[in-house]
Amino acid sequence: MSSYNDSASDQDLQRENRLWRLHAVCHQRMSRASTAQEALSGLAATLVDAGPYLRCLIVRGADHADNAPAPVYYPTESTSAPDMAALRALAARMASLDEVQIQTQASGGELIALPFPATEANSGSRRGGLVLACAHSFSEQEQKRLQDLVIDLNRYLAQSQLRTALLERSEQFSRLTDASMVGFYIIQQDGFAYANARLAALFGYSQDELINGVRVSDLVYPDDRAAVVSNLQQRLEGDTQSVHYQFRGVRRSGEVMPVEVFGTRTYYRGERAVVGSLLDITERQSSDQRLNLLSRAVDASRNGIAISDLSLDDNPFVYVNPAFEAITGYSAVETVGRNGRFLLGDDRRQSQLQQLRQALHEQRGTRVELRNYRKDGTAFWNELSVAPVQDDAGNTTHYVSVMNDISQRKQIEHQLRQLSYFDKLTGLANRSQLTEQLQQALHHARRNGRVTALLMLDLDRFKMFNQSLGTLAGDNILCAVARRLEGIIRRGDTVARVGADEFAIVFHDLNDRHDLLPLARKVLNEVSRHLDVGTDGLQVTASMGIAVAPGDGDDAEMLIQNASAAMYSAIPKRNGFVFYTAELNSQAQQRLDMEVRLKRAITNHEFILHYQPKVDLLTGAITGAEALVRWLDPLEGMVPPFRFIPLAEETGMIQEIGAWVMEEACRVAGSWNREGWPLTMAVNLSAKQFSDPDLVGSIQRALVKAQLAPDRLECELTESVLMEQPEIAKATLNELKAIGIHIALDDFGTGYSSLSYLKRFPIDTLKIDRSFVMDIPQDDHDIAIAKAIIALSRSLGLQVVAEGVETSDQLAFLQQEGCDLMQGFYFSKPLPEDVFRALLVAGTGLNSHV
Ligand code: C2E
Ligand code: CA
Ligand code: CA
Repeated sequence: MSSYNDSASDQDLQRENRLWRLHAVCHQRMSRASTAQEALSGLAATLVDAGPYLRCLIVRGADHADNAPAPVYYPTESTSAPDMAALRALAARMASLDEVQIQTQASGGELIALPFPATEANSGSRRGGLVLACAHSFSEQEQKRLQDLVIDLNRYLAQSQLRTALLERSEQFSRLTDASMVGFYIIQQDGFAYANARLAALFGYSQDELINGVRVSDLVYPDDRAAVVSNLQQRLEGDTQSVHYQFRGVRRSGEVMPVEVFGTRTYYRGERAVVGSLLDITERQSSDQRLNLLSRAVDASRNGIAISDLSLDDNPFVYVNPAFEAITGYSAVETVGRNGRFLLGDDRRQSQLQQLRQALHEQRGTRVELRNYRKDGTAFWNELSVAPVQDDAGNTTHYVSVMNDISQRKQIEHQLRQLSYFDKLTGLANRSQLTEQLQQALHHARRNGRVTALLMLDLDRFKMFNQSLGTLAGDNILCAVARRLEGIIRRGDTVARVGADEFAIVFHDLNDRHDLLPLARKVLNEVSRHLDVGTDGLQVTASMGIAVAPGDGDDAEMLIQNASAAMYSAIPKRNGFVFYTAELNSQAQQRLDMEVRLKRAITNHEFILHYQPKVDLLTGAITGAEALVRWLDPLEGMVPPFRFIPLAEETGMIQEIGAWVMEEACRVAGSWNREGWPLTMAVNLSAKQFSDPDLVGSIQRALVKAQLAPDRLECELTESVLMEQPEIAKATLNELKAIGIHIALDDFGTGYSSLSYLKRFPIDTLKIDRSFVMDIPQDDHDIAIAKAIIALSRSLGLQVVAEGVETSDQLAFLQQEGCDLMQGFYFSKPLPEDVFRALLVAGTGLNSHV
């Protein structure tokens, strides 16, 4: 106080006060700035505007350079003024200054340089500081104040740099974790110190709930809690750095999900913590399980399975299953790395190979039948299905091949085809083959403007020869005639045996019908040449009918019918031939008569059913019956089905007859069943009936009316049904099957005998045709066929019935082979209903038969 009036010290005091105030304002500007740059500009402006300084230059050194390296000038307009150059020059020397430097200006006044404290980072020329110009001299006090200000500024800059770095890093972190599909967490004690949005969403909580309240163990399935807690403990208290494991998590909803975690020990807010990530692996686990299951299924499959890799040169196999090894004889080691074509051996000219190549080229699947070769060189038939496998992007990367050894099926098919195309006795073509060949010849002739002729021959008085000389001689005659006819024809012509003593010849590629006369004469001459049969020689003659296309018919069926008509008119003359003419249709006239009568038969209810028992070969019991229709004609008496069914089919009358048969058969079966005989009724359906869209409906109504359970009804149909309209047949059969009705394939072995449709259609039963049973046990061929059909039925799980069993030898054979049921005169002819019922009442007494 003593110096209160001292003007000098008064001035000092005032100056001191001003400096304090200035200092305070500078601090305020710095603390309010949101960036370092703003703080520095504010500071420089304050020092000049609110303080006693003229100019200000602040240079940042290496310590805080990365905040914003540009120097700050104030006032900014004068940065190019000459006296600013002096400030700059002084700033440039800042690095070499250890302390405050004062320079007297030539213009009067002083400059002061105040360097930031020296550090290693800012040594050399990279040290920053503050330079001020003023009009007066810097007092000691003032220098001291300014030095304090520079120290504060330095600290401020350092902190600001640190803050920015931290801010950036935490922003990066939260952006990373918030957008992540992975849950992130920091755990301390038993709680979350941090959880990202994904983790919260995975478990069905909010982030807030996880961090404030939910315990870690709340998120773990009870059985897994101990393991999870111990894992956390080891990192929070023990020595384990990081772990990676799976456990079952529990969502808020109680739903359990498999998760996988990676956790590492860390420090957080000065304390031990675990930081980690968590993944929901539900999908991965289920696809792992699926894959596992699939690969086991592939391994266990009885079909050969191979996988080829399209990304490798020559697309080699990369996997084959054990069944592949068993079928081919090649081990996986010998197979993997090779292209599948090695299985073809040298047999590269197979018709279906092209189909396979084409499919592979177009990267689509296909199914082919190929001859392949095992390691030991033996051939087998491979039913090969290949299917492309695509990756997520839709590119085909692999092929899966499934192979099926169908050699046995092929062999049976071949045998049956052979059989169904050739006459057993003479080795000539049979009627099926004749029809086919004729159709081909007609087709060819139509395209080339040529003529085709069909000759039908009936041997004169053959029945008489047969009776007088014996059947062996009869057979010899037939074979001899066959050989002679074969001697006449040219390549491409066909000779067939189409009935007991009926033959047919197709002459193809003729110029016109005049060519035929000499040919017809030649045929008759050949047949009637002297024959050495038995002891005496004899002469056989034939009667022949001829039909020619174009003219006498457009298709094989028509031509056969017309040639037959011509033949019948030739028979009375003997040893002659007749060309077909329209008048010849007296047969057609007869047919017309028959049609009228048949129509009347329907109106007058002239049909009856007979029932032939089906017998279980194991137990001897009657298990069912086949309903067979007969026509009780008032004039002719009982007409057998072969005389009227074909006509009924042609005219469509079979629809009405068939409907009546179905209704009547169901009615009878219904009453048997109600009376305590649980029998199955078999009803024949002709191919024509399948064109009736109401077929299934009418059968259903018959069942309902008769109160007969559908599984007590069996429909018998022939292969022709399946061949002619496969799509309709399949749909209809599936409908019948769905109702519970059984399906039997009749006359099996006589038709096309393709075994593939046994799988394609819902068939329950095969009926071995009577013609194969007839000659058992004399005929080896028939035995082989019957055996094959029975074995085949067994392997396909089908029931098998033998038709036309007439002798005890046949019965014994069928029993031995394991045939299920039999039907035939040996046990019983078809019987009227009352007789059949009497048989049931009497008890079968079958055990004496069977
Ligand atoms: P199918 O369905 O093959 O019937 C079996 C035929 O073999 C019956 O001739 C039967 O009497 C005969 N048969 C049974 N056991 C023996 C035997 O031990 N020896 C001999 N030689 N023959 C035996 P059927 O009754 O003359 O019938 C002939 C064909 O007429 C049937 O052949 C079937 O295709 C057709 N048919 C019969 N009834 C109907 C029917 O109601 N509807 C249709 N669409 N066709 C019928
Ligand atoms: Ca039948
Ligand atoms: Ca049959």
